[in-house]
Amino acid sequence: MTDRLRADLTALMLIPGLSGHEERVAAHIRAALRETGLAPQTDRMGNVIATIPGDPAAPSVMLFAHMDQLGFFVRRIEADGLIRVERMGGVSERAMAAQAVLLCPPGQDDVPGLILNKAHHATTPDEKYRVLTAPEILIDTGHGSKQAVEAAGIRIGTPVVYLPRVLDLAGGRIAGTSVDDRAGCAVLLAIARALAATDWQGPTVHFVWSVQEEFNLRGAVVAAQVLQPEIALQIDLMLASDTPDMAQRGEMVLGGGPGISLYSFHGRGTLNGVIPHPALVRLFEETAAKAAIPLQRSAQVGVLTDLSYIQMLGAGVASLDIGFPMRHSHSALECCDMADLEALTRLTLAALAAIRPGFSLSREAGP
Ligand SMILES: [Zn+2]
Repeated sequence: MTDRLRADLTALMLIPGLSGHEERVAAHIRAALRETGLAPQTDRMGNVIATIPGDPAAPSVMLFAHMDQLGFFVRRIEADGLIRVERMGGVSERAMAAQAVLLCPPGQDDVPGLILNKAHHATTPDEKYRVLTAPEILIDTGHGSKQAVEAAGIRIGTPVVYLPRVLDLAGGRIAGTSVDDRAGCAVLLAIARALAATDWQGPTVHFVWSVQEEFNLRGAVVAAQVLQPEIALQIDLMLASDTPDMAQRGEMVLGGGPGISLYSFHGRGTLNGVIPHPALVRLFEETAAKAAIPLQRSAQVGVLTDLSYIQMLGAGVASLDIGFPMRHSHSALECCDMADLEALTRLTLAALAAIRPGFSLSREAGP
């Protein structure tokens, strides 16, 4: 399973897909699903949906991960061909200067570029430790004039992502562009394949590869409104806190196994987060114990996923964020461990199989 997961993740990380421009990632996922015999649908937002029907007496599940990645949109092209951008999503501006990027004019060839970084020899002492903000940066594609840039198809609004790259590190670790959340997409594919290959007796499972999470966290809401699941499980990163700079943040170890989030909250601008449904926490704890899979725990302020909005739909959707430890979130290269992805796949498969008729989502049961 790990080889297939690694191949899927690698392929997915090499496809650019800024929020709102996920079409190429979606096409790849649809093709993979069709190979498995599934018939994916794509809604008007661009969410890719595949349903594996199950026992109607068990609560239905929406299992989802987002296809989009953060980056930039072209804001202005200077006469000399240098390009100014707006930030799209939570780009780490500290990690931005001198990075390679890829501009993706729709329907035309991708154009590589480089974020300028002032020559170190000419940097003054007060410039040395100042971080440029995204609206200040300039991208050089080498064209040399506005006309030549425009002839390459680049216009105001053209999406820009960090140059898609993958680095296979030692020990089963993998670094790449948009591990967040192509790793989730790859795990979701692995689970869909596994379910499609069996005579599935568990609950109905709606797989959703969602859009625009890094933009406004609400692309998946459109799919959930139509699918009306009783349970929503979202697969995304968990902040690894096993490096010296993150040690105070928690106990999440890269390579230490999959995780569940017991509390997420985003206080900056968006008052939202997820305190998970206790029945789902119990389900994952018991399943992990039975399968002898270590299960890590996360409680973090400053983190938010699209699940926050789905939990409040209809009469309420029982929700849980599940995921994999990841380092350097929202930098040009992010890092995860294949063993965590493999264990997350097995854990989720076992948890889905344990959702049987009578699986109670009642809040009246004792703690
Ligand atoms: Zn994400």
